[in-house]
Amino acid sequence: MINLMYHHVNSDRCSNNIEVFEKHMQYIASHFQTTFPTKKELKGKYACLVFDDAYADFYYLTFPILKKYNIKALLAVPTKYILDVCSQTPEVRMSFEHNDEFKNYEKGTFCTFKEMKEMIESGLVQIASHSHTHTNLLEEDVNIKEELILSQQILEEKLSIKVESFVFPFGKYNDAIATETLNYYTYAFRIGNAIHKDFSGIKGINYRVDADGLSTADEIFTFKKQLGYKFKAFIKSF
Ligand SMILES: [Zn+2]
Repeated sequence: MINLMYHHVNSDRCSNNIEVFEKHMQYIASHFQTTFPTKKELKGKYACLVFDDAYADFYYLTFPILKKYNIKALLAVPTKYILDVCSQTPEVRMSFEHNDEFKNYEKGTFCTFKEMKEMIESGLVQIASHSHTHTNLLEEDVNIKEELILSQQILEEKLSIKVESFVFPFGKYNDAIATETLNYYTYAFRIGNAIHKDFSGIKGINYRVDADGLSTADEIFTFKKQLGYKFKAFIKSF
């Protein structure tokens, strides 16, 4: 099993070029079964694709490719920045640099709840919490409980769903935060470029391989890279 981390398509940072991204999705569709987080035993090759932050390009550019290749994805949503609906054009919504997306959220730089509903109904997109304000949870004065619970409540109420996964903003957490998170969520995700056999993760946390900035469709799946990710998992298990 491999968990993968993505952010944008066709943006200036934390992004993939859309042509490479589509070839990468084709590669995944022909070599893996894609899955949402599950406690079921996984037999065969599985990939769990996790997209962070729910930028508008996920709805406009990524979601059509997921549908084309019948690929499942988990979308990690920071709830403070999500509008119910948005009347801006796709061009405006996708015109911001990566670093300006959060401060311009009122211009619809993120997927709306309406768009999320449509994506959930496709059966291809599941929603995870990515905290409420997208703050580094290790910083002082952060209300950890609010970041964990408020985001989950908002998503569950707005979308009439159950939210079982949490993705740490910036991949940052410590042991106490991990324990707290797993009081409210079944699955927690970090970064870390490691692979493990199922969603029980390493010490309860799911690691993800960074799949932004790909130059070829299959560069993270080479024997050498996979060996590196397994070695990292081995080290992290102590
Ligand atoms: Zn994020």
